[in-house]
Amino acid sequence: MLIEPDLSVPGHRELFVIGDMSALTDANGTRVPGLAAAAIQQGTVAAQNILRDLRGEQRVPFRYRDRGSMATIGLHRAVAEFGHKKFSGLTATRQLSSLKRKQTRLARPQAGRPDRWK
Ligand SMILES: Cc1cc2nc3c(=O)[nH]c(=O)nc-3n(C[C@H](O)[C@H](O)[C@H](O)COP(=O)(O)OP(=O)(O)OC[C@H]3O[C@@H](n4cnc5c(N)ncnc54)[C@H](O)[C@@H]3O)c2cc1C
Repeated sequence: MLIEPDLSVPGHRELFVIGDMSALTDANGTRVPGLAAAAIQQGTVAAQNILRDLRGEQRVPFRYRDRGSMATIGLHRAVAEFGHKKFSGLTATRQLSSLKRKQTRLARPQAGRPDRWK
């Protein structure tokens, strides 16, 4: 569905459509991709715009931030792209492994330290 820059449905400011259901060229002129990162970023901005409505403030337009992409090919190969830099082979595989290790560490609850679970 084509949506407005503030992520609302045309003609229905009270309805927001985000993620794969939405089609948008953002305020920077970027066609928002059908990726999880875009859906998550849109969720944040939709929530911000609802809060702005409640405070009587002006809504902000959505701008997609491309933080890069990584993909695995089989078990031991990967490709990665960050901005204009592209990696493949061992460099990309090492980056992906390091990212996975960090994610595993962050996801693991610390016994007796609920404040560190986030
Ligand atoms: C095979 C595949 C691989 C992908 N790989 C990547 C990747 O590597 N990286 C990446 O960033 N993105 C990837 N994507 C895209 C990513 O999955 C989507 O962009 C992202 O999930 C969109 O989020 P969403 O919340 O819009 O939709 P979804 O994640 O699809 O969530 C929609 C939810 O609504 C539920 N739902 C549907 N109908 C109803 C209903 N009537 N009532 C109640 N609930 C309902 C569904 O069950 C689902 O849980 C991939 C997609 C596919 C299909």
